[in-house]
Amino acid sequence: MASEDRDRLQAVLEALPSAALVQSPQDRVLAVNRRFVDMFALDGRADLSPGAPLRPVVPLVRAAFATGAPPHPGPGELPAGRHVHRVAEIPLTDGRVLRREVEPLRHAGAYLGALWLFADITDRKRREHDLERDNVALTELARQRNAFTAAASHELRTPLTSISSFGELLADPAFGPLTDEQRSFLDAIRRNAARMQRVISDLLLTTRMRAVGPELEFGPVDVPRMLMDALMDHMGEIGRAGLFAVLDCPPAGPPLRGDRHRLQHVLGNLLENAAKFTPAGGRITVRAAPVGVHWDIEVADTGIGIPEQYRTEIFSGFVRAPNATGAHPGTGLGLAIVRTVVQLHGGTVTAGGREGEGAVFRVRLPVAGPEGAQEGLQEGPQEGGAGP
Ligand code: ADP
Repeated sequence: MASEDRDRLQAVLEALPSAALVQSPQDRVLAVNRRFVDMFALDGRADLSPGAPLRPVVPLVRAAFATGAPPHPGPGELPAGRHVHRVAEIPLTDGRVLRREVEPLRHAGAYLGALWLFADITDRKRREHDLERDNVALTELARQRNAFTAAASHELRTPLTSISSFGELLADPAFGPLTDEQRSFLDAIRRNAARMQRVISDLLLTTRMRAVGPELEFGPVDVPRMLMDALMDHMGEIGRAGLFAVLDCPPAGPPLRGDRHRLQHVLGNLLENAAKFTPAGGRITVRAAPVGVHWDIEVADTGIGIPEQYRTEIFSGFVRAPNATGAHPGTGLGLAIVRTVVQLHGGTVTAGGREGEGAVFRVRLPVAGPEGAQEGLQEGPQEGGAGP
Protein backbone atom coordinates (compact mmCIF):
# COMPACT_ATOMS: atom_id res chain seq x y z
CA MET A 1 0.00 0.00 0.00
CA ALA A 2 1.35 3.44 -0.95
CA SER A 3 2.34 5.49 2.07
CA GLU A 4 -0.22 8.17 1.14
CA ASP A 5 -3.01 5.55 1.17
CA ARG A 6 -1.74 4.20 4.44
CA ASP A 7 -1.84 7.69 6.00
CA ARG A 8 -5.40 8.15 4.79
CA LEU A 9 -6.46 4.77 6.19
CA GLN A 10 -4.80 5.64 9.50
CA ALA A 11 -6.59 9.00 9.63
CA VAL A 12 -9.95 7.30 9.00
CA LEU A 13 -9.32 4.75 11.77
CA GLU A 14 -8.31 7.47 14.23
CA ALA A 15 -11.56 9.33 13.49
CA LEU A 16 -13.66 6.30 14.41
CA PRO A 17 -15.32 6.30 17.84
CA SER A 18 -14.40 2.60 18.32
CA ALA A 19 -11.16 0.69 18.71
CA ALA A 20 -10.32 -0.52 15.20
CA LEU A 21 -7.94 -2.88 13.45
CA VAL A 22 -7.75 -3.69 9.74
CA GLN A 23 -6.58 -7.22 8.98
CA SER A 24 -5.09 -8.28 5.63
CA PRO A 25 -6.19 -11.45 3.79
CA GLN A 26 -2.87 -12.99 4.94
CA ASP A 27 -3.79 -12.30 8.57
CA ARG A 28 -1.41 -9.42 8.98
CA VAL A 29 -1.93 -5.97 10.46
CA LEU A 30 -2.85 -3.38 7.86
CA ALA A 31 -3.66 -0.60 10.32
CA VAL A 32 -4.59 -0.11 13.98
CA ASN A 33 -5.90 2.97 15.77
CA ARG A 34 -4.85 4.42 19.12
CA ARG A 35 -8.11 3.35 20.78
CA PHE A 36 -7.37 -0.28 19.95
CA VAL A 37 -3.90 -0.09 21.48
CA ASP A 38 -5.25 1.58 24.62
CA MET A 39 -8.29 -0.67 24.99
CA PHE A 40 -6.14 -3.81 25.27
CA ALA A 41 -3.06 -2.08 26.78
CA LEU A 42 -0.92 -3.27 23.85
CA ASP A 43 1.59 -0.43 23.91
CA GLY A 44 5.09 -1.93 23.91
CA ARG A 45 3.68 -5.45 24.22
CA ALA A 46 2.94 -6.24 20.59
CA ASP A 47 4.22 -5.34 17.16
CA LEU A 48 1.30 -3.59 15.47
CA SER A 49 3.20 -2.01 12.63
CA PRO A 50 1.75 -2.50 9.12
CA GLY A 51 2.62 -5.98 7.82
CA ALA A 52 3.24 -7.48 11.28
CA PRO A 53 1.64 -10.93 11.78
CA LEU A 54 -1.58 -10.90 13.79
CA ARG A 55 -1.09 -14.24 15.48
CA PRO A 56 1.03 -12.95 18.42
CA VAL A 57 -1.55 -10.18 19.06
CA VAL A 58 -4.47 -12.58 19.45
CA PRO A 59 -3.64 -14.01 22.91
CA LEU A 60 -2.98 -10.51 24.25
CA VAL A 61 -6.43 -9.35 23.16
CA ARG A 62 -8.12 -12.51 24.32
CA ALA A 63 -6.49 -12.27 27.74
CA ALA A 64 -8.81 -9.33 28.42
CA PHE A 65 -11.91 -11.43 27.71
CA ALA A 66 -13.64 -12.64 30.85
CA THR A 67 -13.28 -16.32 31.58
CA GLY A 68 -16.59 -18.07 31.36
CA ALA A 69 -17.49 -15.96 28.35
CA PRO A 70 -18.11 -18.00 25.21
CA PRO A 71 -14.92 -18.45 23.20
CA HIS A 72 -14.44 -15.30 21.18
CA PRO A 73 -11.66 -15.60 18.65
CA GLY A 74 -9.62 -12.46 18.35
CA PRO A 75 -8.41 -10.75 15.22
CA GLY A 76 -6.85 -13.22 12.82
CA GLU A 77 -8.76 -16.17 14.24
CA LEU A 78 -11.52 -16.46 11.72
CA PRO A 79 -10.81 -19.74 10.02
CA ALA A 80 -14.18 -20.12 8.31
CA GLY A 81 -16.89 -17.63 7.51
CA ARG A 82 -14.47 -14.73 7.41
CA HIS A 83 -16.60 -13.16 4.73
CA VAL A 84 -19.57 -12.72 7.03
CA HIS A 85 -20.42 -9.64 9.07
CA ARG A 86 -20.41 -10.65 12.74
CA VAL A 87 -21.44 -9.00 15.97
CA ALA A 88 -20.86 -10.11 19.55
CA GLU A 89 -20.99 -8.67 23.03
CA ILE A 90 -17.95 -9.64 25.04
CA PRO A 91 -17.55 -9.20 28.80
CA LEU A 92 -14.00 -8.33 29.91
CA THR A 93 -12.19 -9.43 33.06
CA ASP A 94 -12.24 -5.84 34.37
CA GLY A 95 -16.06 -5.65 34.22
CA ARG A 96 -16.36 -3.69 31.00
CA VAL A 97 -18.50 -4.99 28.15
CA LEU A 98 -17.44 -4.62 24.51
CA ARG A 99 -19.46 -4.83 21.36
CA ARG A 100 -17.31 -6.38 18.71
CA GLU A 101 -18.07 -6.19 15.01
CA VAL A 102 -16.15 -7.79 12.18
CA GLU A 103 -16.77 -6.33 8.76
CA PRO A 104 -15.31 -8.20 5.79
CA LEU A 105 -13.75 -5.82 3.28
CA ARG A 106 -14.39 -6.52 -0.37
CA HIS A 107 -13.84 -4.75 -3.61
CA ALA A 108 -14.81 -5.93 -7.10
CA GLY A 109 -15.38 -9.43 -5.76
CA ALA A 110 -11.94 -9.67 -4.15
CA TYR A 111 -11.54 -10.22 -0.39
CA LEU A 112 -9.31 -7.46 0.99
CA GLY A 113 -9.32 -8.44 4.65
CA ALA A 114 -11.50 -7.49 7.61
CA LEU A 115 -12.22 -4.47 9.77
CA TRP A 116 -12.45 -5.24 13.50
CA LEU A 117 -14.29 -2.75 15.66
CA PHE A 118 -14.53 -2.86 19.46
CA ALA A 119 -16.87 -0.37 21.21
CA ASP A 120 -17.15 0.01 24.97
CA ILE A 121 -20.86 -0.46 25.78
CA THR A 122 -20.46 -0.85 29.55
CA ASP A 123 -22.62 2.19 30.40
CA ARG A 124 -25.40 1.16 28.04
CA LYS A 125 -25.43 -2.37 29.46
CA ARG A 126 -25.55 -0.98 32.99
CA ARG A 127 -28.51 1.26 32.09
CA GLU A 128 -30.30 -1.69 30.45
CA HIS A 129 -29.67 -3.77 33.55
CA ASP A 130 -30.99 -0.99 35.84
CA LEU A 131 -34.10 -0.61 33.68
CA GLU A 132 -34.71 -4.34 33.79
CA ARG A 133 -34.37 -4.34 37.59
CA ASP A 134 -36.76 -1.37 37.91
CA ASN A 135 -39.25 -3.13 35.65
CA VAL A 136 -39.19 -6.24 37.80
CA ALA A 137 -39.72 -4.13 40.95
CA LEU A 138 -42.59 -2.18 39.35
CA THR A 139 -44.27 -5.36 38.14
CA GLU A 140 -44.07 -6.77 41.64
CA LEU A 141 -45.53 -3.55 43.11
CA ALA A 142 -48.38 -3.63 40.61
CA ARG A 143 -49.04 -7.26 41.49
CA GLN A 144 -49.14 -6.42 45.20
CA ARG A 145 -51.46 -3.47 44.60
CA ASN A 146 -53.74 -5.69 42.54
CA ALA A 147 -53.78 -8.42 45.18
CA PHE A 148 -54.52 -5.88 47.92
CA THR A 149 -57.38 -4.28 45.93
CA ALA A 150 -58.84 -7.70 45.19
CA ALA A 151 -58.67 -8.76 48.84
CA ALA A 152 -60.12 -5.48 50.15
CA SER A 153 -62.97 -5.51 47.59
CA HIS A 154 -63.75 -9.08 48.46
CA GLU A 155 -63.87 -8.31 52.18
CA LEU A 156 -66.22 -5.35 51.56
CA ARG A 157 -68.61 -7.37 49.46
CA THR A 158 -69.94 -9.62 52.25
CA PRO A 159 -71.00 -6.89 54.73
CA LEU A 160 -72.39 -4.85 51.86
CA THR A 161 -74.56 -7.73 50.70
CA SER A 162 -75.90 -7.90 54.24
CA ILE A 163 -76.64 -4.13 54.29
CA SER A 164 -78.48 -4.40 50.96
CA SER A 165 -80.49 -7.45 52.04
CA PHE A 166 -81.58 -5.91 55.34
CA GLY A 167 -82.43 -2.70 53.46
CA GLU A 168 -84.72 -4.72 51.18
CA LEU A 169 -86.31 -6.42 54.19
CA LEU A 170 -86.92 -3.10 55.96
CA ALA A 171 -88.63 -1.76 52.83
CA ASP A 172 -91.00 -4.75 52.85
CA PRO A 173 -94.34 -3.65 54.35
CA ALA A 174 -94.62 -7.13 55.90
CA PHE A 175 -92.11 -5.95 58.51
CA GLY A 176 -94.15 -2.96 59.55
CA PRO A 177 -95.05 0.45 58.19
CA LEU A 178 -92.48 3.24 57.70
CA THR A 179 -92.98 6.97 57.90
CA ASP A 180 -92.20 8.97 54.74
CA GLU A 181 -89.04 10.24 56.35
CA GLN A 182 -87.90 6.73 57.29
CA ARG A 183 -88.66 5.56 53.76
CA SER A 184 -86.51 8.33 52.26
CA PHE A 185 -83.65 7.43 54.66
CA LEU A 186 -84.00 3.82 53.64
CA ASP A 187 -84.00 4.75 49.94
CA ALA A 188 -80.74 6.62 50.49
CA ILE A 189 -79.22 3.55 52.20
CA ARG A 190 -80.32 1.23 49.38
CA ARG A 191 -79.21 3.61 46.63
CA ASN A 192 -75.77 4.06 48.14
CA ALA A 193 -75.38 0.36 48.89
CA ALA A 194 -76.19 -0.36 45.23
CA ARG A 195 -73.62 2.19 44.15
CA MET A 196 -70.98 0.65 46.40
CA GLN A 197 -71.83 -2.76 44.99
CA ARG A 198 -71.23 -1.47 41.48
CA VAL A 199 -67.87 0.01 42.49
CA ILE A 200 -66.83 -3.22 44.19
CA SER A 201 -67.84 -5.36 41.25
CA ASP A 202 -65.86 -3.02 38.93
CA LEU A 203 -62.85 -3.32 41.23
CA LEU A 204 -63.15 -7.09 41.40
CA LEU A 205 -63.53 -7.37 37.63
CA THR A 206 -60.51 -5.12 37.03
CA THR A 207 -58.27 -6.96 39.47
CA ARG A 208 -59.43 -10.31 38.15
CA MET A 209 -58.75 -9.32 34.54
CA ARG A 210 -55.29 -8.14 35.56
CA ALA A 211 -54.49 -11.28 37.55
CA VAL A 212 -55.90 -14.13 35.49
CA GLY A 213 -56.77 -12.55 32.16
CA PRO A 214 -60.05 -11.78 30.50
CA GLU A 215 -61.96 -15.09 30.59
CA LEU A 216 -64.27 -14.10 27.73
CA GLU A 217 -66.84 -16.48 26.32
CA PHE A 218 -67.20 -15.93 22.61
CA GLY A 219 -70.34 -16.64 20.65
CA PRO A 220 -72.61 -14.97 18.08
CA VAL A 221 -73.99 -11.65 19.39
CA ASP A 222 -77.16 -10.09 18.00
CA VAL A 223 -76.04 -6.45 18.26
CA PRO A 224 -79.43 -4.65 17.92
CA ARG A 225 -80.89 -6.93 20.55
CA MET A 226 -77.93 -6.53 22.87
CA LEU A 227 -78.22 -2.73 22.59
CA MET A 228 -81.93 -2.85 23.30
CA ASP A 229 -81.33 -5.03 26.38
CA ALA A 230 -78.59 -2.73 27.68
CA LEU A 231 -80.85 0.27 27.22
CA MET A 232 -83.77 -1.45 28.93
CA ASP A 233 -81.53 -2.39 31.88
CA HIS A 234 -80.77 1.30 32.38
CA MET A 235 -84.15 2.85 31.62
CA GLY A 236 -84.89 3.29 35.33
CA GLU A 237 -81.69 5.24 35.87
CA ILE A 238 -82.19 7.31 32.72
CA GLY A 239 -85.76 8.14 33.68
CA ARG A 240 -84.78 9.09 37.26
CA ALA A 241 -82.13 11.45 35.85
CA GLY A 242 -84.88 13.21 33.86
CA LEU A 243 -83.42 12.19 30.49
CA PHE A 244 -84.83 10.53 27.47
CA ALA A 245 -83.10 7.96 25.29
CA VAL A 246 -83.14 7.20 21.57
CA LEU A 247 -81.98 4.00 19.90
CA ASP A 248 -81.10 4.46 16.25
CA CYS A 249 -80.16 1.05 14.88
CA PRO A 250 -81.28 -1.26 12.05
CA PRO A 251 -83.46 -4.08 13.42
CA ALA A 252 -81.03 -6.73 12.20
CA GLY A 253 -77.45 -7.04 10.99
CA PRO A 254 -74.55 -9.47 10.85
CA PRO A 255 -74.07 -11.35 14.14
CA LEU A 256 -70.87 -10.30 15.85
CA ARG A 257 -68.44 -12.80 17.34
CA GLY A 258 -68.04 -11.70 20.93
CA ASP A 259 -68.91 -12.14 24.60
CA ARG A 260 -72.49 -10.90 24.84
CA HIS A 261 -72.44 -10.51 28.60
CA ARG A 262 -69.25 -8.41 28.63
CA LEU A 263 -70.33 -6.31 25.63
CA GLN A 264 -73.61 -5.53 27.33
CA HIS A 265 -71.58 -4.52 30.40
CA VAL A 266 -69.57 -2.16 28.15
CA LEU A 267 -72.75 -0.55 26.84
CA GLY A 268 -74.13 -0.41 30.38
CA ASN A 269 -71.03 1.47 31.56
CA LEU A 270 -71.33 4.00 28.75
CA LEU A 271 -75.05 4.47 29.44
CA GLU A 272 -74.48 4.86 33.18
CA ASN A 273 -71.90 7.56 32.48
CA ALA A 274 -74.16 9.32 30.01
CA ALA A 275 -76.96 9.31 32.60
CA LYS A 276 -74.60 10.50 35.34
CA PHE A 277 -72.98 13.34 33.42
CA THR A 278 -76.07 14.75 31.67
CA PRO A 279 -78.31 17.28 33.42
CA ALA A 280 -82.08 16.70 33.55
CA GLY A 281 -83.91 17.42 30.31
CA GLY A 282 -81.03 16.04 28.23
CA ARG A 283 -80.89 13.22 25.72
CA ILE A 284 -78.91 10.02 25.26
CA THR A 285 -78.63 8.65 21.73
CA VAL A 286 -77.36 5.16 20.95
CA ARG A 287 -76.58 4.72 17.26
CA ALA A 288 -75.30 1.53 15.66
CA ALA A 289 -74.73 0.28 12.14
CA PRO A 290 -72.71 -2.41 10.40
CA VAL A 291 -69.99 -0.67 8.38
CA GLY A 292 -67.94 -3.01 6.17
CA VAL A 293 -66.43 -5.66 8.43
CA HIS A 294 -67.27 -3.76 11.63
CA TRP A 295 -70.14 -2.81 13.83
CA ASP A 296 -69.94 0.88 14.74
CA ILE A 297 -71.71 1.78 17.97
CA GLU A 298 -72.00 5.29 19.33
CA VAL A 299 -73.31 6.52 22.67
CA ALA A 300 -73.85 10.28 22.66
CA ASP A 301 -75.27 12.55 25.33
CA THR A 302 -75.98 16.24 25.82
CA GLY A 303 -74.15 16.51 29.15
CA ILE A 304 -71.04 18.19 30.53
CA GLY A 305 -68.72 16.71 27.86
CA ILE A 306 -65.08 15.68 28.24
CA PRO A 307 -62.31 18.28 28.12
CA GLU A 308 -60.13 17.72 25.04
CA GLN A 309 -56.94 16.92 26.98
CA TYR A 310 -58.60 14.09 28.99
CA ARG A 311 -60.11 12.13 26.13
CA THR A 312 -57.38 9.49 26.08
CA GLU A 313 -56.40 9.49 29.73
CA ILE A 314 -59.91 8.69 31.03
CA PHE A 315 -59.50 5.15 29.68
CA SER A 316 -56.42 4.35 31.74
CA GLY A 317 -58.15 3.64 35.06
CA PHE A 318 -58.65 5.76 38.19
CA VAL A 319 -58.62 8.89 36.03
CA ARG A 320 -61.49 11.41 36.18
CA ALA A 321 -61.69 14.70 34.31
CA PRO A 322 -61.82 17.79 36.57
CA ASN A 323 -65.36 18.70 35.43
CA ALA A 324 -66.57 15.27 36.63
CA THR A 325 -65.45 15.50 40.23
CA GLY A 326 -67.66 16.93 42.93
CA ALA A 327 -71.29 16.42 42.03
CA HIS A 328 -70.66 13.18 40.09
CA PRO A 329 -69.40 10.30 42.21
CA GLY A 330 -67.24 7.56 40.68
CA THR A 331 -63.93 5.73 40.72
CA GLY A 332 -62.73 6.21 37.18
CA LEU A 333 -62.67 2.45 36.59
CA GLY A 334 -65.63 1.98 34.24
CA LEU A 335 -63.93 3.19 31.07
CA ALA A 336 -60.78 1.17 31.79
CA ILE A 337 -62.97 -1.93 31.82
CA VAL A 338 -64.73 -0.74 28.66
CA ARG A 339 -61.43 -0.33 26.83
CA THR A 340 -60.05 -3.70 27.99
CA VAL A 341 -63.16 -5.59 26.90
CA VAL A 342 -63.37 -3.77 23.56
CA GLN A 343 -59.69 -4.39 22.84
CA LEU A 344 -60.10 -8.07 23.68
CA HIS A 345 -62.71 -8.14 20.93
CA GLY A 346 -60.15 -6.65 18.55
CA GLY A 347 -62.00 -3.32 18.58
CA THR A 348 -61.36 0.30 19.50
CA VAL A 349 -63.12 2.87 21.65
CA THR A 350 -62.67 6.62 21.50
CA ALA A 351 -64.17 9.60 23.28
CA GLY A 352 -65.16 12.77 21.45
CA GLY A 353 -67.83 15.40 21.15
CA ARG A 354 -67.75 19.17 21.04
CA GLU A 355 -66.71 20.70 24.31
CA GLY A 356 -69.73 21.86 26.30
CA GLU A 357 -72.15 20.02 24.00
CA GLY A 358 -71.94 16.54 25.49
CA ALA A 359 -69.80 13.46 25.07
CA VAL A 360 -69.72 10.90 22.26
CA PHE A 361 -68.19 7.46 22.77
CA ARG A 362 -67.50 5.48 19.60
CA VAL A 363 -66.97 1.74 19.76
CA ARG A 364 -65.83 -0.12 16.66
CA LEU A 365 -65.96 -3.90 16.82
CA PRO A 366 -64.89 -6.32 14.08
CA VAL A 367 -67.78 -8.61 13.12
CA ALA A 368 -65.41 -11.59 12.97
CA GLY A 369 -64.11 -11.01 16.53
CA PRO A 370 -60.46 -10.75 17.51
CA GLU A 371 -57.98 -12.24 15.09
CA GLY A 372 -55.85 -15.15 16.28
CA ALA A 373 -53.18 -13.76 18.58
CA GLN A 374 -49.97 -13.43 16.62
CA GLU A 375 -46.93 -13.64 18.83
CA GLY A 376 -44.20 -11.33 17.53
CA LEU A 377 -41.31 -13.54 16.43
CA GLN A 378 -38.22 -12.76 18.41
CA GLU A 379 -35.00 -12.57 16.46
CA GLY A 380 -32.44 -15.07 17.60
CA PRO A 381 -28.98 -14.00 18.75
CA GLN A 382 -26.85 -12.70 15.93
CA GLU A 383 -23.79 -14.66 16.90
CA GLY A 384 -23.42 -17.80 14.82
CA GLY A 385 -21.24 -19.73 17.28
CA ALA A 386 -17.93 -19.84 15.45
CA GLY A 387 -17.52 -16.07 15.27
CA PRO A 388 -15.59 -13.94 17.72
P1 ADP B 1 -66.37 7.18 36.69
O1 ADP B 1 -67.62 7.41 35.92
O2 ADP B 1 -66.53 6.27 37.85
O3 ADP B 1 -65.65 8.44 37.05
P2 ADP B 1 -65.32 6.10 34.23
O4 ADP B 1 -64.07 5.33 33.99
O5 ADP B 1 -66.59 5.51 33.77
O6 ADP B 1 -65.37 6.39 35.78
O7 ADP B 1 -65.14 7.52 33.57
C1 ADP B 1 -63.92 8.21 33.74
C2 ADP B 1 -64.11 9.68 33.51
O8 ADP B 1 -64.45 9.93 32.14
C3 ADP B 1 -65.23 10.31 34.28
O9 ADP B 1 -64.86 10.59 35.61
C4 ADP B 1 -65.48 11.55 33.47
O10 ADP B 1 -64.47 12.52 33.73
C5 ADP B 1 -65.29 11.07 32.05
N1 ADP B 1 -66.56 10.66 31.43
C6 ADP B 1 -66.97 9.41 31.16
N2 ADP B 1 -68.16 9.41 30.53
C7 ADP B 1 -68.52 10.72 30.42
C8 ADP B 1 -69.66 11.36 29.85
N3 ADP B 1 -70.65 10.70 29.29
N4 ADP B 1 -69.68 12.72 29.89
C9 ADP B 1 -68.68 13.42 30.46
N5 ADP B 1 -67.57 12.86 31.00
C10 ADP B 1 -67.51 11.51 30.99
